[in-house]
Amino acid sequence: MTTSRPRSARAAVVGSGPNGLAAAVTLARAGLDVTVYEAAETIGGGTRTMEVVQPGVLHDVCSAIHPMALATGFFREFELTKRMRFAVPEASYANPLDGAAGDRAAIAYRDLNRTAAELGRDGEAYRRLYEPLLKRVDGVVDFALGGSMLRLPANLLATIATGLRTAEQGTPLWNLRFHEEAAPALISGVAAHSIGRMPNLATAAVGVVLGTLGHASGWPVPIGGSQRIADVLADDLLAHGGRIETSMAIDDIGQLDGFETVLFDTSARGFARIAARKLPERYRRSLERFSYGDGATKVDFVLDGPIPWRDERVHEAPTVHLGGTRAQGAHAEAQVAKGRHPGQPYVLLAQPTAFDPDRNPAGAHAVWSYTHVPAGSNEDMRERVIRQIERFAPGFRDRIVAVKQTTADELSRYNRNYHGGDFSAGAVSLPQLIARPTLKAKPWRSPVVGLYLASSSTPPGPGVHGLSGWYAAKEALRAQYGLRAPDLSFQSLV
Ligand SMILES: Cc1cc2nc3c(=O)[nH]c(=O)nc-3n(C[C@H](O)[C@H](O)[C@H](O)COP(=O)(O)OP(=O)(O)OC[C@H]3O[C@@H](n4cnc5c(N)ncnc54)[C@H](O)[C@@H]3O)c2cc1C
Repeated sequence: MTTSRPRSARAAVVGSGPNGLAAAVTLARAGLDVTVYEAAETIGGGTRTMEVVQPGVLHDVCSAIHPMALATGFFREFELTKRMRFAVPEASYANPLDGAAGDRAAIAYRDLNRTAAELGRDGEAYRRLYEPLLKRVDGVVDFALGGSMLRLPANLLATIATGLRTAEQGTPLWNLRFHEEAAPALISGVAAHSIGRMPNLATAAVGVVLGTLGHASGWPVPIGGSQRIADVLADDLLAHGGRIETSMAIDDIGQLDGFETVLFDTSARGFARIAARKLPERYRRSLERFSYGDGATKVDFVLDGPIPWRDERVHEAPTVHLGGTRAQGAHAEAQVAKGRHPGQPYVLLAQPTAFDPDRNPAGAHAVWSYTHVPAGSNEDMRERVIRQIERFAPGFRDRIVAVKQTTADELSRYNRNYHGGDFSAGAVSLPQLIARPTLKAKPWRSPVVGLYLASSSTPPGPGVHGLSGWYAAKEALRAQYGLRAPDLSFQSLV
């Protein structure tokens, strides 16, 4: 509850990604006079949906699937599901296999027992990996996404269970409990969301947490596309007196004179550059040292029918991980880490049409995919991505009506937070999960009163959860105005 309403206090938010909008909504609901400045022509950052490949057909430009939209604090308090609709399929994700690994896919259903039952000999070992986490899912979410890593976890048992499984899956012990290909491939397919060599502790942590959500609240598809998330946040901001100015890049802090509070939904380096003349030298240097990871190249398609998966069950999953076996996926990721473009790349694919049939005209099947590439790459990955899909879906190529590639280099120009195409706004490594971007209990707060970093360069890192923005805004309200976090619920809008 708000204790008072400092109506005269002016706050600016630089950037309208999910974190920027979450911050703006929180500040506006507390009574501040909020303006959001967005460099691009439209709002949303990583949650835009546009006609990317073909006029009349919508594709998500960046994020497409939202494991964190239903399960984490900000969107729960904001009551996102009362403001827009999600399809939450019974299957969260699939990992097709071939050759000696068999032509069946491994599928992660929300139902852990069904998942295990279809994983053959390793089913029981897989079930035992996730069951303790599912019993304490709120504790797992709190540990991974609840704020700075320099804090006491709310649920010790959940923390220990997450830590042990991360240690197992992030080290050469990762195959110890498994005998076949399907279960480990299913786990690595999720871990590889976070770009990097495998096994390693950071990718394993991401895999363990996203996998747990896949068996808990699921991996939802937003009806209408990810843009709906940005739009409902913007609606709420405007309803609370906020303003949004698009096509308005902030390049120097001097443009924001007159604002008492400024939150940056920019990368750590972007913040260092824009606020250079106000930030203490030591802090600015530490932001500049924050390192960026490898990139992603997007390859989107319009098809004239569904993907002809060899294993029909893959149609049930909105997200498909195309890396093959665990060893093949790890090999592809190792190639990227060495600065090479893999011949058989790990491809992350979303097939929203079956789950959101009204998004596009009947008969137009939008397929969204991306693959990992070295930072700044401009390599043409289209043929390699097509071959990798065709490998598990013979005949895919014949269904292609149109294809559009956005290279990592182009992605970095599309959104200035994505240095070299790194859409995490900073590499997801163990040190940078702990010190994101610096080692502080309140990493959103800069040494300068009134300046905050609110993007995924701060905890809990990448993904559409709004948490970095929410944490930064709550810290600003507490530190500058002595206010508690405002009520964000839907009822309080009407
Ligand atoms: C290809 C791709 C696929 C992804 N898939 C998923 C997915 O399926 N699920 C998921 O949860 N996440 C996914 N992500 C990640 C997710 O999109 C990001 O982690 C998330 O959007 C980060 O939110 P943010 O608010 O911190 O920054 P962003 O969403 O990047 O927004 C930052 C905004 O700030 C603006 N900006 C930056 N600097 C300035 C400036 N100086 N002046 C004015 N404006 C500025 C930018 O234009 C941008 O609009 C994906 C990302 C990409 C690129």
